Amino acid sequence: MATLRFKALTDLMTKKVPDMKFPEKRVSEFYGELVFNDEAMKRYLQPSIYKMVKQCIENGDLIDRSIADGVAAGMKAWALDHGVVHYTHWFQPLTDTTAEKHDGFINYGPDGKVIEEFAGKHLAQQEPDASSFPSGGIRQTFEARGYTAWDVTSPAFIVGSTLCIPTIFISYTGDALDYKTPLLKALHAVDKAAVDVCQYFDKNVTKVYSYLGWEQEYFLVDEGLYMARPDLMLTGRTLMGHLSAKNQQLEDHYFGSIPERVAYFMRDLEVECQRLGIPVKTRHNEVAPNQFELAPIYEEVNLANDHNLLVMDVMKRLAKHHGFEVLLHEKPFAGVNGSGKHNNWSLGTNTGVNLFAPGKNPKGNLLFLTFLTNVMVAVYKGQDLLRSTILNATNTHRLGANEAPPAIVSIFLGTQLSSMLNSIVEKVSDAKMTPEEKTALKLGVGRLPEILIDNTDRNRTSPFAFTGDRFEFRAVGSSANCAGAMTALNSMVACQLREFKANVDALIEKGVKKDEAIFQEIRKLIIESAPIHFDGNGYSDEWKEEAARRGLTNITCVPESIEQMTTAHAKHVLVDGGIFTERELEARAEVEFEKFTKKVQIEARTIGDLVINHIVPTALEYQNILIKNVKGMKEIMGAEADSLTESEKDLIRKISGHISEIRSKTQSLIDARKEANVIECEREKAYAYEKNVRPLMDEIRYHVDKLELIVDNEMWPLPKYRELLFFR
Ligand code: ADP
Ligand code: MG
Repeated sequence: MATLRFKALTDLMTKKVPDMKFPEKRVSEFYGELVFNDEAMKRYLQPSIYKMVKQCIENGDLIDRSIADGVAAGMKAWALDHGVVHYTHWFQPLTDTTAEKHDGFINYGPDGKVIEEFAGKHLAQQEPDASSFPSGGIRQTFEARGYTAWDVTSPAFIVGSTLCIPTIFISYTGDALDYKTPLLKALHAVDKAAVDVCQYFDKNVTKVYSYLGWEQEYFLVDEGLYMARPDLMLTGRTLMGHLSAKNQQLEDHYFGSIPERVAYFMRDLEVECQRLGIPVKTRHNEVAPNQFELAPIYEEVNLANDHNLLVMDVMKRLAKHHGFEVLLHEKPFAGVNGSGKHNNWSLGTNTGVNLFAPGKNPKGNLLFLTFLTNVMVAVYKGQDLLRSTILNATNTHRLGANEAPPAIVSIFLGTQLSSMLNSIVEKVSDAKMTPEEKTALKLGVGRLPEILIDNTDRNRTSPFAFTGDRFEFRAVGSSANCAGAMTALNSMVACQLREFKANVDALIEKGVKKDEAIFQEIRKLIIESAPIHFDGNGYSDEWKEEAARRGLTNITCVPESIEQMTTAHAKHVLVDGGIFTERELEARAEVEFEKFTKKVQIEARTIGDLVINHIVPTALEYQNILIKNVKGMKEIMGAEADSLTESEKDLIRKISGHISEIRSKTQSLIDARKEANVIECEREKAYAYEKNVRPLMDEIRYHVDKLELIVDNEMWPLPKYRELLFFR
């Protein structure tokens, strides 16, 4: 017979397998039908307006007010044909989600009757009140207005009955209040710097695109069980819970067959994504039980990132139709793998050349080596800046833990490419190369394509791995907006490429031949970036020691990492590079400190509530049963019971011990919070939360998890790990 608890849990479960009808059409027939894409623009816009919009898209310019009315008219007609009644400027404030404020397509016409209205001014700009979004002190109450303005490079789309217009979000004073504005600047910067360098090789290169292919990992749990876990609901992760006897040790979930209920959800999700023009392609089970992954075909970074944010939204919405809750938190469960979002990143030219793919001839390979080595140095110099964009209150549970990339930033190249670089260092002397040396080197370089085909033994422990024709930054968190990392990375590379160009130009000026000047600079870059190049096991303890010897940083403390956003080097890259003003950058760090504090604060409050109101009362109840039992034994057996009840009494003592530890540590937690809360400086407050609040949560959890093993299963008030991870 099923136990009451089991029955209660399974009653709670939604277990929905919806009666779904998937489109009978082929993907190619419905792909992008909810997007105001090129096809829709051609149909709904006047030819002259269409041409001007295309030009704005090409140049990344804001739309000119003179054509905004014409664009809006076409967009409105298209939207009305699709049953749209509202429009919204869809933007990316410095929170974890996107924001939208809906306005109806409605106004009074000249004759007082209601009409559908959507004009150029509505398309081009909206004025949401900025005062409720994080600004890091930039926004004052007397200038609370914020502006959103259409980013023409990302097409409008329809969600439900709402037309969504991707926008940037800036303050009244012109400061960026979002993730998109600096990202667009960084992409522009890397375009410009990379084109300048490409010009050494090919005058036809006039534009360099930055590409992103994200791999989104996530967990699914039954919605009913989720509702019974206040910690999951409020913080996105379990703050307690003993490991299940089985978790991922049999390695039977990864790439295993997808459970039917999950497959239905995935199919539903894919169809919706494809209607939204998001090229989702790959899906599979991940390592941990109930963990999955979704990946699209890569796209230009800005669009790819909008698509990722949209996918996270769509996932959350659709999961509910299937009785699931999506967990995007980096570490929802202790003891099993966490979730990341690998950022596959590359640069490509308007002439169709992937700058991270070795060419077919020596010249192409010199181009490849130029970009490879510049990225290496950029990441080496910017390791702390890069980390500061991805290490936060949630990702801190994953980075540096055993199954995730370590907090040390290193680059994997693979043995062949590594020895290639070594041979360049050895062969290209600072002096002029002999013709034989050149030939040998060029032959070696010419062999690269074949070499790299064999180079598929991918090292999964590297946070920044070269994977044949792209880099894969694996430390990004599953819940993150990739824009943070992409802004830093592209800005860093832009900065480095500018420096490279200046150095090469200086050599050419001195009379050195162009190719040789480039070779010499590449050689310097290889030597300079050597410390960050590591092909070994990034999870090992030896690497930690070795990395320290090499002078690489290993920052795991979140506030300390946030401080790296505003170092001299960060300012050189971001402020001198024109991505942020100094004020914007300082404000961003402030926002991060604040976000960290608030998240830990919410977790600390939640765990306090859970232990005092759920766990301790349950433990006491069970303890009372034991006490009654001991008393009863004594009553009927007298002195004989003394030895027979020894183990019961031992258990009673253990429970008491745990309860009293939980109570006193929870009190300490409250005190630590109180002490931290009065600190005015956001930076110091974040440190207080990191150093004094967070450790206590782990200590409390330890005792709760011990109690879970002791207390009668029937009485335990929360769904357990085995249920959350294996019920589906
Ligand atoms: P993995 O084996 O690492 O899971 P996949 O083949 O699934 O790799 O690809 C992961 C992501 O990398 C996909 O989104 C894919 O489109 C993307 N990708 C492939 N080539 C490039 C490239 N040149 N630049 C950026 N992303 C790329
Ligand atoms: Mg990958």
